[in-house]
Amino acid sequence: MSTFQTFAMVDWSGGNDTGPTPRKDAIWACIVRNSKALEPEYLRNRLVAKQWLDTLIRAELKAGRRLFLGFDFPFGYPSGFARAITGTDDPLALWDWFDRHVEDSPQTNNRFDLAGRVNLQFGGRGPFWMNGLRRDIVGLPRTKTGYSNPFPDRRVVETLAKGSFTCWQMAGAGAVGGQVMMGLPVLNRLRHRFAGQVAVWPFEPLEKPIAIVEIWPSLTLGKPPAGRIKDAWQVEQVALTLSRLTEQELDAQLNVSAAEEGWILGVPQNKPNIAPPPLRNDCFALPAGVEWTPVDEALAYLRDKLHPITSAETVSLTKASERILAEDVIAQRSNPPQPNTAVDGFGFAGPVPDGPQVMPLGDGRAAAGIPFEADVPKGRALRVLTGAALPDGVDTVILEEDVTVEDGHIAFHGPLKKGANTRRAGEDVVAGDMALPAGRRLTPADLALLSAVGIAEVNVRKPLRVAVVSTGDELVEAGESAAPGQIFDANRPMLLSLAHRMGFEPVDMGRVADNREALRDRLDQAAKQADVILTSGGASAGDEDHVSALLRQAGAMQHWRIALKPGRPLALGLWSGVPVFGLPGNPVAAMVCTLIFARPALGLMAGEGWAEPQGFEVPAAFEKRKKPGRREYLRARMRDGRAEVFHSEGSGRISGLCWAEGLVEIEDGERHIKPGDVVRFLPFGSFGL
Ligand code: AMP
Ligand code: MG
Repeated sequence: MSTFQTFAMVDWSGGNDTGPTPRKDAIWACIVRNSKALEPEYLRNRLVAKQWLDTLIRAELKAGRRLFLGFDFPFGYPSGFARAITGTDDPLALWDWFDRHVEDSPQTNNRFDLAGRVNLQFGGRGPFWMNGLRRDIVGLPRTKTGYSNPFPDRRVVETLAKGSFTCWQMAGAGAVGGQVMMGLPVLNRLRHRFAGQVAVWPFEPLEKPIAIVEIWPSLTLGKPPAGRIKDAWQVEQVALTLSRLTEQELDAQLNVSAAEEGWILGVPQNKPNIAPPPLRNDCFALPAGVEWTPVDEALAYLRDKLHPITSAETVSLTKASERILAEDVIAQRSNPPQPNTAVDGFGFAGPVPDGPQVMPLGDGRAAAGIPFEADVPKGRALRVLTGAALPDGVDTVILEEDVTVEDGHIAFHGPLKKGANTRRAGEDVVAGDMALPAGRRLTPADLALLSAVGIAEVNVRKPLRVAVVSTGDELVEAGESAAPGQIFDANRPMLLSLAHRMGFEPVDMGRVADNREALRDRLDQAAKQADVILTSGGASAGDEDHVSALLRQAGAMQHWRIALKPGRPLALGLWSGVPVFGLPGNPVAAMVCTLIFARPALGLMAGEGWAEPQGFEVPAAFEKRKKPGRREYLRARMRDGRAEVFHSEGSGRISGLCWAEGLVEIEDGERHIKPGDVVRFLPFGSFGL
């Protein structure tokens, strides 16, 4: 999101014009284009600064250059303030509010009076403090004596960025309160004047030509060289530094979520697993001395030794389908945000007693998105349409169908409970609650929920890249001519599709002959392009089993003799730090091993946690005798409420996989299953297919 051709940094000031001679603590700005800094500019007052910004933005838009525009004051206030003032948590609504209430001219402005007025709403002792004028202002204390702040003193980012001032302090050396109040209206006007072209970080996705970003030079910069005005030097240094970051470096810094308060670019945000540690070399080392490992033990082992290996990125909600959340998502707004009516009908104050009722009907109506602004007096009714916010005085609604309307009155039968046919504010989700947990793979319904609670972008894991390689001298590509003894590569298309359907990013690494050098090269390439490698074939301990031989040479290989059917030994190892799942060559065994072993392991590494397939106890439609020792998976499907199995257990019979809609899992011990006996059915859907 961060290819910018132009970087500009503005050092803001809340003070008035003090003359034409460049001086510190005024507004300063510097532009860097193509890594070259222009001379920093002294902007003597906010009117001049506004014109300068206007000209700059027009010029960059016209030239088709993306502009990164930094400002050194908070874009938001500590949490709760936006809601208390505007009724929503949206910081940009607060920008609009300040824009409407701040009066500004080069010589005078109303910032102290406005701070006093805001304070009076909260009892007159805070949140703002310090009157910088000679005259007294009602509600704005001069000192902190008696000060009381209903909001947090600092934004979260300010608790991490030491030495920052709070935005509540309106005057005094270093205070930023005035700058914020006088700066936000200016940014807000830019936002509206260039609507659709400007995005404000971190509240909006930076998908527009102009990005407006909060950044504080004094957090990172030291003293200016002798003879230079500090502010002029700082804006130049910041713009230059930004222009020299690689796209990845800038993206990493921009990747924060702070929906209400905003953030300061460059202050690291604590995010889970942003740079996950590599897997340990011994992660596939089975406990010594084990001959045949039971399936459950092998799974428990993988679960214990593996961990997420993908990093995170922020994407807009529209692009987040099926992505995995990297962190918990907190609802920014309640759903529903206010009490509203669940039906078309008539609203009034409830409850209503038993028996026939007649009520005068007020003029007007409340509809979804078009609230009724006045009170509804007790004993009167108002027309309300589904989704409309309940006006003051209305808490109960009667269904349209149950009402007759005549002569300006409605008639219906009671009783009706208070709250009937309405939805409570937050009855679905309350603002501040966790809407969805980290590790969640986002479903269509999740996108609806997140959108409803005001989430526009989410921090998600990068998709796990899964490379697929087929091995075997006998393999040719379908469509090529096959000599006697050759077969078409069936596993690769299947495994690529499985990886995709299970929610990972498939990477096709082709076929390799049974040749150690060729295989080594291919694994090297795959390890560069993917996070995990799936191979099929060559995983046993025979002469031509080069996958296991190479992994063994690499020193991080384990042969897992898992007690399962169908399945031959599974070769698990690390190749250049990348986990390799050496699957059996048999297509049926390859698919079963993928579903039973690779899938939960891949899910864990992708960041979605360990997913057990959901099984169902159902009656069998078949008879089968099974010896003790190995767990068995049969190709199966449900018909007429019973599980039937494929007529052959031959592990080369691919058509049985197509016939099946799931697997029947038969436990490790001895069993004689007769029709009607209970068996466990695992639908393919429960593996994410
Ligand atoms: P292997 O594990 O290499 O000993 O192979 C076991 C069986 O699976 C042999 O019959 C192979 O020909 C067959 N096989 C291996 N790879 C594939 C593939 N990609 N497609 C179809 N059959 C395969
Ligand atoms: Mg082979």
